[in-house]
Amino acid sequence: MAFESKLPRVGTTIFTTMSALAAEHQAVNLGQGFPDFPMPEALREGLSKAMRDGFNQYAPMPGYGPLRERLAEKVQALYGAAVDPNASITITPGGTYAIYTALTTLVHPDDEVIVFEPAYDSYIPGIELNGGVAVTLSLSHPDYRIDWDEVKRRITARTRAIVLNSPHNPSGRVLTDLDIVALRSIVATHPDLYIISDEVYEHLIFDGMPHLSMLRYPELRERSFVCFSFGKVYHCTGWKLGYCIAPETLMKEFRKVHQFNTFSCFAPAQVALAEYLDNKEGYLLLGSFLQRKRDLFLSLMEGSGFEFLPSQGSYFICAKYHQISDESDTDFAIRLIKEKGVATIPVSAFYRNGDDHKVLRFCFAKKEETLREAAGRMSAVR
Ligand code: PMP
Ligand code: GLN
Repeated sequence: MAFESKLPRVGTTIFTTMSALAAEHQAVNLGQGFPDFPMPEALREGLSKAMRDGFNQYAPMPGYGPLRERLAEKVQALYGAAVDPNASITITPGGTYAIYTALTTLVHPDDEVIVFEPAYDSYIPGIELNGGVAVTLSLSHPDYRIDWDEVKRRITARTRAIVLNSPHNPSGRVLTDLDIVALRSIVATHPDLYIISDEVYEHLIFDGMPHLSMLRYPELRERSFVCFSFGKVYHCTGWKLGYCIAPETLMKEFRKVHQFNTFSCFAPAQVALAEYLDNKEGYLLLGSFLQRKRDLFLSLMEGSGFEFLPSQGSYFICAKYHQISDESDTDFAIRLIKEKGVATIPVSAFYRNGDDHKVLRFCFAKKEETLREAAGRMSAVR
């Protein structure tokens, strides 16, 4: 039988592909973004305790109440945002799901959604599966900035939403005050424009830079689905738990979709997180913790021939390799795995048309020994 794919141009994600190759060649995996150091023991204990305490049945559809209350307190303290935990926060099975659900909530057939490339690979399929049209704009290279004049030019009567991601995967670029000024002026003249803001790396931000969450600005917040991930904050990407914050009217629609998709998320982890969230150091020290890893990795890679681009946040740093090779980024990344035993991600995978600026992405959210081993293996790369 002929089967008509809904995603004819899509294969298995680059993260799965590179992690599988890394395993096959016993490579040090600096590809897929996940930490190799342990999550907090108290949170693991909290999970066992929640199960022992009997939190093993369905959580409420929007999420465990005390967890949503703690999150509302957190965003009030961090971003000055008064968010109603009952009406405006929904716990989701990961940040990717929150983004997908926001797209499903918003996008009608032929609606246009603006996406900046390089883009996290779930955005465009999420738009297209919902019948929308992804309007891709390139971030400048190699500094990965948004050209807001181009954004203005590309907005049409069909533009429904814009997807933002700060700190940005893969570049590590962070939105600045100037970006916010430009965005505010755009929404002032396009009152029907919505924002999907991917803020999963909110705490992974370096050099004292503030995280400019959409939640800080009332006129941006009122049109935003802001998506977060517990996996990135508590070193437990495998828990696949996150949340979305949106104004009540938008969240009501979001929950209509959510209730028929997963309905509710793994209950014991929500109970454990609700207790653990009081531990503010757990997230407030995260930026400096990862900054030290970034700096260690950079110092270990000195003299390697890679030209590192600035990373202001996220798990990632990108590097150009033109002094080493003129291969395509995918060929070079595969050779690096096979010959040197180090896995990375070719940044062309973040462009729908595979634009290749000959840049690799490295994940430095790793133990010191892992970073040392990887850097040692790459010191003699040719
Ligand atoms: N957005 C970006 C930019 C990411 O890098 C990730 C990490 N996988 C996510 C969203 C989603 O995280 P998760 O679904 O694992 O919570
Ligand atoms: N966000 C992670 C990354 O960019 C991977 C997530 C995934 O494997 N889907 O590496």
